[in-house]
Order: sequence, then C-alpha cells, then structure tokens
Amino acid sequence: LKKELAKLRDLKAETTDGHRVKLKANLGRPTDIDSLLENSPDGIGLFRSEFLFMDRADLPSEEEQFAAYAEVIQKMNGKPVIIRTLDIGGDKHLPYLNLPEEMNPFLGWRAIRISLDQVDLFKTQLRAILRASVHGKALIMFPMISHVEQVQRAKEILEEVKQELQAKGVAFDPSVEVGIMIEIPSSCLIADELAKEVDFFSIGTNDLVQYTLAVDRMNEQIQHLYNYFHPAVLRLIKMVIDASHRHQIWTGMCGEMAGDPLATKLLLGLGLDEFSASANLLQVKKQIRSTSLADAKKVADHALTFATAEEVQQYLSQQSHNI
Ligand code: PEP
Ligand code: MG
Repeated sequence: LKKELAKLRDLKAETTDGHRVKLKANLGRPTDIDSLLENSPDGIGLFRSEFLFMDRADLPSEEEQFAAYAEVIQKMNGKPVIIRTLDIGGDKHLPYLNLPEEMNPFLGWRAIRISLDQVDLFKTQLRAILRASVHGKALIMFPMISHVEQVQRAKEILEEVKQELQAKGVAFDPSVEVGIMIEIPSSCLIADELAKEVDFFSIGTNDLVQYTLAVDRMNEQIQHLYNYFHPAVLRLIKMVIDASHRHQIWTGMCGEMAGDPLATKLLLGLGLDEFSASANLLQVKKQIRSTSLADAKKVADHALTFATAEEVQQYLSQQSHNI
C-alpha cells in the first residue's frame, strides 16, 4: 500500500473528469516542514503560528518571527503558505501572557479577540509576516472570527502596518491575500457578509464541530457526540462553500475532516476548493483521483439527506474507493 501511495506523490489532486483541487499540508512546528515536503503538497494550508509562541519564557521578537516565517516561505519555493495569526487561549496557554482564569476558556478571550485587544502584539506579528512575504507567497489568515467587525478591524490594522512599512521603505508583497477561519457557527450563517471582506475562507472543523454541537473537543467522556459527519455540520459546510462561490472567493478546509479519506468525496461534491491536512495527504489524493466530480456531487447531495452521522458514515463507506 505504501508503494502505491508513494506513486501518487507527484500526481495532481484531480478528479477523473479533470476537476483540480489544491491539496496542502498543515504545519505546526516550523521544523516539521521537511517531513511535510515528502508528500509534495500544493502549499501550506495552515501554519499554526502559535507554535512559535509556545514552550518558551517570553514573546518571540519580530526578528525571530520573521526568520521562522521566511524560512518556511522560502522552503515552499513559491507555493502558497497560509500563516494564521496567533490562535492562543482555549486549550493553548502562554504563561508569560498572563491570560486570566476563565469559566469557559473556549468561549473566552482567545485568538483574534486577543490580537484585536493587544494591538502591539498583533502588529508585530503582521509586520513579521509582511516582511517575510517577499521570499515567496504568503497569505494571512485570522482565526476564530465570529463578527464582521472583527475582520474589518483586523484588515484596518493590517493596512496601518503596511503603511508604516512603506513609509520606512521596508519591502513586502502588497497583494498578500487575506482570509479567515470559519470555525464558529455564526460565521457560517453570515458567510455571505464575510465573503465580501476577504479573499478566501478556511473551514476549521475541529472547532466548528465543538461549537455547533456544544461538545468540548478535549473531553473524552463526550467524544461519542463529537462527529464532523453530523448533519448540522454538513449543512454549515455546504452553506459556507456556496456563499464563497457566490462571491467568487474560494474555500479550503484545514480541520481534521479534510484529512479523512472517508470525507473526501463528500467534500469534493460540496465544492471544496482546497484540502489541507496534517496526515493522510496521499490517501486523500487517492480518493480525489478515483472519483469524478459529477459522481461526488451526487454523493454529496445524497449524504445531505440523512438524519444521523452514523447513516452518513455508512453511506460514505459504501461510496468510497476501498479505504
Ligand atoms: C480547527 O479548529 O479546525 C483548526 C484547524 O484550528 P485548531 O485545530 O488549531 O483550533
Ligand atoms: Mg480552531
């Protein structure tokens, strides 16, 4: 099986009827980049920048961040790298930031909420990303968006940073694309409004499932309730992809669902433009290459008629190419 998958490495992520999608890799620690390259991804669909901030005693400086972003961007050799701005809080702690104890950390002060309140911290990161952007192709993505105003404010701050860099004569890519994570149900429901503000969406199913089903993603006791094949989640995903296409922007997915070969046909059929996974890249590619888009659309339509996640999974396992 390994040999069979290895043969797929240099083939395109394309359906039998010629529909091409992007198949990218998720990156945690920047040092993991070399092993990711073995699967020859179309780019980095999610660079979790918080890893640069973890396991250390203080904030990484602009220079340290710049060096890390630039190295990854350079190694990708012109392929796109989506850098997500700091997604801290919830389960991820930074002792030196003195985050307050919260009753409901996952509903609390985290991710973009912190960045918009701590503008210096945010600007430092944006400056580092922009400076690194001249070394290849960088895209910027904001996490945990629930309100349109958050995107507008984040873009405003990004504009300020660009102007400051320009005034100092510092080089950056002026056309860096800006996108947002779609991982909160409210953002799915207002996807049409959000699409007017950005160049792309990336669906984060890990949090989207947690918030849609009100099931803590870390709590073992209720893991049986945590399932991205739940019909409510599927409907939200469809809503997001459809809204993005109405506004001529693209939608990727960087949550774990994107790396599940059982979900591939369904996601293709729903019109997903980009898959970004931590593992199983070649297995997902195998699924993509063994179906037509027309067939995937039929499968997606039918998958959306079921009442339970179990029925969806049963149906998809009949429809998928020997997983
Ligand atoms: C997600 O929520 O699906 C996601 C990709 O982000 P993280 O797992 O880092 O919260
Ligand atoms: Mg998330």
